[in-house]
Order: sequence, then C-alpha cells, then structure tokens
Amino acid sequence: MTTKQQLEIRSQLLSVVRDFVKQDVIPQAAEHDEQDSYPSELADQMADLGLFGMTVPEEYGGLGVDVTTFAMVFEELSKGWMSITGPIGSHSMLTWGITKYGTKDQKERWLPDLATGKKRGGLALTEPGGGTDVSGMQTYAQKDGEEYVINGSKQFITNGKNGDVFMLLAKTDMNTDPPHKGITGFIAEKGPGFNAGKDFNKLGYRGVDTSELIFKDYRISSDDLLGKQEGNGFYQVMDSLETGRINVAARAIGVAQAAFEAAIKYSQQRETFGRPISSRQSIQNMLADMATKIHAARLMTMDAAERKDQGDRVDQEAGMAKLYASEICSEVTLDAMRIHGGAGYMKDLPVERYYRDAPLMIIGEGTNEIQRLVIAKNLLKRYEI
Ligand SMILES: Cc1cc2nc3c(=O)[nH]c(=O)nc-3n(C[C@H](O)[C@H](O)[C@H](O)COP(=O)(O)OP(=O)(O)OC[C@H]3O[C@@H](n4cnc5c(N)ncnc54)[C@H](O)[C@@H]3O)c2cc1C
Repeated sequence: MTTKQQLEIRSQLLSVVRDFVKQDVIPQAAEHDEQDSYPSELADQMADLGLFGMTVPEEYGGLGVDVTTFAMVFEELSKGWMSITGPIGSHSMLTWGITKYGTKDQKERWLPDLATGKKRGGLALTEPGGGTDVSGMQTYAQKDGEEYVINGSKQFITNGKNGDVFMLLAKTDMNTDPPHKGITGFIAEKGPGFNAGKDFNKLGYRGVDTSELIFKDYRISSDDLLGKQEGNGFYQVMDSLETGRINVAARAIGVAQAAFEAAIKYSQQRETFGRPISSRQSIQNMLADMATKIHAARLMTMDAAERKDQGDRVDQEAGMAKLYASEICSEVTLDAMRIHGGAGYMKDLPVERYYRDAPLMIIGEGTNEIQRLVIAKNLLKRYEI
C-alpha cells in the first residue's frame, strides 16, 4: 500500500526529473548520440538528483523509493533520451543486489558511495561465449586462502569503461549439477588484474559505454562475496534482473511515448492534398494502435512493479511486461517513422533515433525468446493437467 507521503515524494521526484529531461537532456541528446560521446555532465546531474541511489534505503544515503516510482523515472528519462538511463540502469541492479543480499558490513561499505554516484557500476554477467547460457560461463574464481583469484572476461557490459564497481558473476565450482549452482556473485572493484577492454560501437543506445571487462589474476577478498555465500550468484542475479526487466520495460514505454507524441504532432502539421494527414483514416488507425499498445504496456509494467513492491517474486509479470513493452516499442517507433514519411528517416528529427534505440530492449536483460521460454514454463506449471 503506497502511503500519502510516498505518493508526494513520487510526484516531486517525477516533476524534478521532467524538468531535467526538458532543460538538459533533450537539448544534448542528438549531439551525444551522433558523436557517441559519454554524457558526463548529465550523469553528474543525475547523481546530484539522487538517481544513482533511487532504490537504496535512506539509512544508506539513498532515496529509498519503491520500484513503481523507479520505473516511472525510467520512463520519463527515456522520453528524452533512452541512453541517459544507461549510467543508472545496471548500476541499480548492483545496488539492488547489495541491498537485498549483502551482509550488513557490505551494505555499510558500498551503498553510501553507490547511492550518491561517487562510485558507479553495473552488472558483469555476459561473456563472449554467451549471455543467454548463463550457466555455461567460463570466468572462474579459484579460492586461495582468504582470497579468490579470478580469470576470464565479460562483454557488452554497460558502464564498463566509466564504472568502478560491478556485481560480477563467476564460477567458483565448474562441476556442480546443475551447473548454475557453481555461480557466485562478487562485489568487484576495478584494480590490478581487473580492467576495461574495448568499447563496442553500437546501432543505438549511443553515448553509453558498452565494454569488455578483463580479469587477469584479479585477486578479491572472500569478504567481497555477495552475501558472503558461494554458489548463490544465479539466484541473486535473477532477482536483480526482475527489477532490470521492469526498468527495460519502462524505458521501452518512454521511447514509444516520445515517438507517438512526435507522430501525433507531425500528423496535424503535415498537409498533403490540402489536408493534414491526421484527417486520413490510415494515419488515425496507426495513432490509435500506437496509443493503445503503449497504454497496455504501461499497465503491465506498473502491475509488475507494484507486485515487486509487495515483495513478490515477479519473473512472470516482469518478463511479460519486458517482452510486450519492447516489442511494441519497435512497432510504435517504426509507425512513427512511417507517419513522418521521408523526414522520419533523417537525422534532423529524433524519430530515427527512437527507432535505433528500440531493439536494445528486445535483447537486453534476457532476450525476448528467453522471456517467452520462462513465461511458458511458468504457465505449463500453473496449468498442468
Ligand atoms: C547495448 C547492450 C548492453 C548490454 N549491457 C549488459 C550489461 O551491462 N551486463 C551484462 O551482463 N550484459 C549486458 N548485455 C548483454 C545482453 O544481456 C546479452 O546480449 C543478451 O542476454 C543475449 O546474449 P548474447 O548476446 O550472448 O546472445 P545469445 O545468447 O548468443 O543468443 C543469440 C540468439 O539465440 C537465442 N537463444 C539463445 N539460447 C536460446 C534458447 N535456449 N532457446 C531459444 N533461443 C535461444 C537468443 O534469444 C538470441 O536470439 C548488453 C547487451 C547490449 C546489446
């Protein structure tokens, strides 16, 4: 149950974020996107607004807002420029993991600096050998007294170059059955033996670093095992990925909403054969379908977020929301481009950027093929005859 005070905090935060998007993000988005340059100033401004610590409890210096508010903030930011959610997105999975599974010492050590954005980070899961097949990971942490020695590499890691601390998943046992029970979560800070490798050049989601992380005889204390437990990493990361999927769904809604608003405005300005194109039924049908899809995606995402706020595991609801919101985002951004005609294909307008940013949401935080597998597995269990 959301209290009056929580609703007031939500409304104030959303108002501040909307102003930030309008005044600072939108004017800079096109240039950062074109140059693929990291938005350092905008990231610092988000730190000042407390967005790096949105879900971190207040006692550790965070805003302590609920997942529903967190999702609404992601939607607002993405309406301006989806990439600006990058510095705080996987960072929030790290803070979620520490808040939920960290020991008291780990929370006291890491959360205050992560909440203010003094330290920034993300999630290091995907490897060159694959992101979907998590249990097949090859990064290995060999125990050596009170330390572990880690070797291996990760790829496509958001904030890989600019981040300091990562929720790192590595195998501590290569022979468990099932294999995912050999995966352990570490709170790993860059240092000798842990460096960023190359940056990837991307279709969309530009400006945010997506990098390799390389571990070469990287020594980490056993105090930095998340929750000081071996073999719990898969479970910990799956929980964090639920908030990740809600955040990706919210990003998709933000991008789709921005594309829709651009399209409905343009349709009333653009005239052909002496009339605005908005008077044509084929354009109206597109607009109606776009708005309906966005509305449905938003309701699904808010439902998953509210359930998460009640403390439920929401792999089914978060998976459905992420699947639907990301698919409709691609459809809506393409329809927005259709409505703009040739102008939509040009870099003068943001519509082509919305279209390029959309597919990441289909791939990230578990591909939509995998969401379907998880959803179907749950359904078959629930409706077993
Ligand atoms: C811009 C960007 C940022 C990212 N940021 C991060 C990050 O911060 N941290 C991180 O850890 N990862 C990150 N990723 C990685 C992302 O999570 C993975 O790319 C994604 O999980 C897919 O893994 P993959 O690329 O290895 O594809 P694969 O696992 O090789 O999959 C290839 C195709 O096969 C399909 N497939 C695979 N297995 C099955 C199956 N069993 N059944 C049906 N279909 C299957 C997939 O759905 C996909 O269509 C990022 C990716 C991108 C593009």
